[in-house]
Amino acid sequence: MDATPVALLLSAFFLLLLLKLLPVLRGERRIKMVVLEELCNGCGNCVVACPVNALRGGVGGGKGESGEGMVMRIGEGVAVEVDMNRCERVRNPDAEKPCRACIDACPMDAINFTCQP
Ligand code: SF4
Ligand code: SF4
Repeated sequence: MDATPVALLLSAFFLLLLLKLLPVLRGERRIKMVVLEELCNGCGNCVVACPVNALRGGVGGGKGESGEGMVMRIGEGVAVEVDMNRCERVRNPDAEKPCRACIDACPMDAINFTCQP
């Protein structure tokens, strides 16, 4: 087998690996929202309470179209992520008082945020 394709494949592999590891090497933390589906009753309180979603308007009950710019919506009876890159907690992980509007609005304690190095 020609060595060139193998070298290209290896280069691509290491490039992808480097891109994956770069945030970790730079000390960035990944914040992830976890909705405990077994607890979530699909009420939509979190969707409506989210200040980012509120800016979009028309999120009533969280069951409308996801549209652009939403953090989460209700899908198939539970809260699901649309674009966590818009979440204030994700965008500003070192905030003195991180946003917790969705957590506070949830009657089922179904929302958690995890932080991974
Ligand atoms: S932490 Fe704030 S911005 Fe992020 S999903 Fe919850 S309510 Fe929205
Ligand atoms: S507020 Fe809680 S129970 Fe209601 S949809 Fe959101 S995660 Fe589910």
